Amino acid sequence: MQRTSFRLAAVLAAGALALSACGSDDGDSGDDGDGTGAGGGSGDGITIGIKFDQPGLGLKDGNEYTGMDVDVARAVAEKLGFSEDQITFVESPSAQRETMLQAGQVDLIFATYSITDSRKESVQFAGPYFVAGQDLLVAQDSDIAGPADLDGKILCSVTGSTSAENVKAEVPGVQLQEYGTYSECVEQLSNGTIDAVTTDDVILAGFAAQEAYAGKLKVVGAPFSTENYGVGLNQDDDRCEDVNAALTELWEEGTMEQIIDDNVGAAGFTPNPETNPAEAGGHCA
Ligand code: GLU
Repeated sequence: MQRTSFRLAAVLAAGALALSACGSDDGDSGDDGDGTGAGGGSGDGITIGIKFDQPGLGLKDGNEYTGMDVDVARAVAEKLGFSEDQITFVESPSAQRETMLQAGQVDLIFATYSITDSRKESVQFAGPYFVAGQDLLVAQDSDIAGPADLDGKILCSVTGSTSAENVKAEVPGVQLQEYGTYSECVEQLSNGTIDAVTTDDVILAGFAAQEAYAGKLKVVGAPFSTENYGVGLNQDDDRCEDVNAALTELWEEGTMEQIIDDNVGAAGFTPNPETNPAEAGGHCA
């Protein structure tokens, strides 16, 4: 029910933005108002896809956007020449990321988005900027200690994620339920309908740290994949190397470490400077 008002608020907010973008030109940008900008359809601004329901990473609360991905997105956008009020955040659920980039609905995606070979067939990735690993979230008193214990259990993950793909390939005996978002999975787990949720450890830790789940849910803590988070761009976007350069600068200034520490440090995640694209090698087309 909370989700309904949440969605409604998002629709209203998006409507308000659309109105202010194409209605009267308030003259706040000082140009003559017919600039179409590059990509994404938000006039002379930039449209960025994030998650709306992942605490610590990408979270929408009213008109506030918080999390590591949001902070990295703002810092990169600034380096690309966009002020904060030129950014429009939109929700990019896991299964819709490639399509949204290909359709030009978003310019950039910062949404716990793993760089993979199959995704690279349809989109470009700048980065990486963070490394996570797939893990399991279970009830505090569960004895599930890793994928080997999942046989016959009900597991939840998200459609279009590497998490769902990995378990389908590696744990054939599990009953996988796929939802559109991780918050829906966590709700099922907390009311006892399912046995475990699987995705990246940093995402699961963000949920486990929520007050509502304190003492109820735990991250197993035995990651079984490597997830390199990248910034998604349309295949034809020529700003991919600029995004890499921005990420590298953020590492060099210490900003990236600060962002990671501020958002996920309390959950035990530390910056890994090897994810600086200057170190890790790039993935631009
Ligand atoms: N990082 C994984 C992926 O990109 C799982 C998290 C997510 O679905 O956003 O598929």
